Amino acid sequence: MIKDSKWNWPLGWINRVLELGNLSVPVLHNDVADKVIWKNNNGNEVDFSVGRVWKDTRECGSKVRWSKVVWFSQCVPSHAFILWLAMRDRMQTQDRMAKWCPATDFSCMSCDKQSDSMDHLFFRCEYSNYIWEEMKEYIEDKTIPNSWKDVKDWIIRKKSNNSAASVIQRLIVAACVYMIWKERNTRLFSKTQMPKEKVRDKIIEVVKIRFIRLRFKDGDEYNKVKKKWNIV
Ligand SMILES: [Zn+2]
Repeated sequence: MIKDSKWNWPLGWINRVLELGNLSVPVLHNDVADKVIWKNNNGNEVDFSVGRVWKDTRECGSKVRWSKVVWFSQCVPSHAFILWLAMRDRMQTQDRMAKWCPATDFSCMSCDKQSDSMDHLFFRCEYSNYIWEEMKEYIEDKTIPNSWKDVKDWIIRKKSNNSAASVIQRLIVAACVYMIWKERNTRLFSKTQMPKEKVRDKIIEVVKIRFIRLRFKDGDEYNKVKKKWNIV
């Protein structure tokens, strides 16, 4: 890259990154081995490593309060991803789509009473509300709210740790959001429908299978969860 004390960048590089031509040319010593260095975000030159470059170049947002609700070692990754979208209110619900297509007449694929939205899908709609009420039995807390904003507040306030109760309630919330969203999209795009009881059964099945594979500290709480889920 350096020839006769001048930069010798390939022409394609110079055309794409004009700043290369402005860099000062380092003084080379024949008796010193070449070394790759990295100028970090603070402007300091440090040893190069892929990890360091990743850290400096990725977009780093502030840590959210719900990170442990979504991402934990016992989670189901596909469920966690959809829950992550829901936590960020990034789902393309009909109320959002209506802003782009004002002439379209949107209607909830389950109840046909209004366009769907986060609050409607999770869990105000009579279809999803049935599933959510049934699953509250498994969380053993009938006071859990029914609108997405309040559900988020509720789950964020709960302790997120490795106890059986904490893991199971986060698995249930993620499975409910995933399965209801999947059913909504299936109805929207392929016109096939699953009864709400079947979706509830699928949620119970997937959470139970996940839970059985996990290990918890023996104790009253673990035994209580096992009893509730008929796990021997
Ligand atoms: Zn509905």
